[in-house]
Amino acid sequence: MTEEVFDVMVVGSCMTDLVSQAPRLPKAGETIHGHKFFIGFGGKGANQCIQAARLGAKTAMVCKVGKDFFGDNYIQNFKDNVVHTDFVEQSSDSATGAASIFVNSAGENAIVIVAGANMLLSSKELQKALPAISHAKVLVCQLEINPQTSLQALHMAQENKVKTIFNPAPAIPDLDPAFYRVSDVFCCNESEAELLTGSSVANIEEAHWACQELLKRGCTTVIITLGSQGCVVLKEQGSTPKHVPTNAVTAVDTTGAGDSFIGALAFYMAHYPTMPLEEMAHRANQVAEVSVQAVGTQTSFPFKKDLPVELF
Ligand code: ATP
Repeated sequence: MTEEVFDVMVVGSCMTDLVSQAPRLPKAGETIHGHKFFIGFGGKGANQCIQAARLGAKTAMVCKVGKDFFGDNYIQNFKDNVVHTDFVEQSSDSATGAASIFVNSAGENAIVIVAGANMLLSSKELQKALPAISHAKVLVCQLEINPQTSLQALHMAQENKVKTIFNPAPAIPDLDPAFYRVSDVFCCNESEAELLTGSSVANIEEAHWACQELLKRGCTTVIITLGSQGCVVLKEQGSTPKHVPTNAVTAVDTTGAGDSFIGALAFYMAHYPTMPLEEMAHRANQVAEVSVQAVGTQTSFPFKKDLPVELF
C-alpha cells in the first residue's frame, strides 16, 4: 500500500476556548451578567497545524477530542482548514479539552483549563498513525498532551529520519533530557528558555547564551522567539547565535504568535528543506508578525493569499 505523504504532521492538543466578557470577574458563589460570549479554536498543537495548512502544507493532526459537540465542531474546523482528520480520535471517556475564560473590562482574565481528552492520547493512537508519521517530512510536538506521548512520537519520527520540531510549551522545569536528543529544532519562547536554563532570558544577549546552553543538551538546532524582537537561531555547537529581527508593527493581540511562528517554520522545513534555518526563521517572523495585527488565535493566522509572494 502506498502511504500518503504529509508535509507536516502534528501530534498535540486541541482546546475549545469559551470566552465570556463581563464588566468584572465573578467572586466565588456569584453569578453576574456578561455582555459578550464567543467560542474560539485553540490548543497549541492544533494552532500550529492550522497555520502550516494555511500556508499550503499538506497536514495531518494526531489528537484526541471528546465524543461531544465540541469534538465534532473541532473536527469540522480541521476540515475547513484542509487538515487531514483520519488520526483525530473521539473518546467517550473524557470531554474535549476546554478553556473557560472570563475577561473583565480592564482586559484582565481568569482561566480554567481542563485538558480532558488531550491527556488520553497514547501510544495506541501513535501506532495507528505510525505509517503516516514514518513518511512525513516534518513532525511537530509540544507539551499540552501527556509528555511521554510527545516523546514517543518524536522518537518514531527520528527513527524514520523525519525532521522534528519540538516546542517545550507549556514549559515544565524537570523536562526529560531525552527530548533534546530527538529535536532537530528545539523552539521555545523567552520564559520557557528561562525555566529550562534557570537563567534570565530578557534580551538578545541572554538569549544567545540560552541557545548555547540548550544546544549542549543534545538538540541539533535551537530557536528562541523574542516577541517583537523576532528570534535568535543557533545552528551548531561552536557557531555564533544569529539574531533574526522582525519588522516593527502595531500589535493588537499577540495570543498564538508563537504557534503561528512554529506552524510557519514547519511549512518552510517541509517545502524548502535546503533553505538556511535563519532564512526560514526570517520568513516565519513575517508570518507571525501578521498574526499579531489581528484579534484572536486561529482567526488571526494568515493564509498564503494574504502574504507577500516573496515568502513562497
Ligand atoms: P504566545 O504565547 O503569545 O503565543 P510566544 O510567547 O510563544 O507567543 P513570542 O516570542 O511572543 O511567542 O512571539 C513569536 C513570534 O511572533 C516572534 O518571534 C515574532 O516573529 C512574532 N511577534 C510576536 N510579537 C510581535 C510583535 N509585537 N511585533 C512583531 N512580531 C511579533
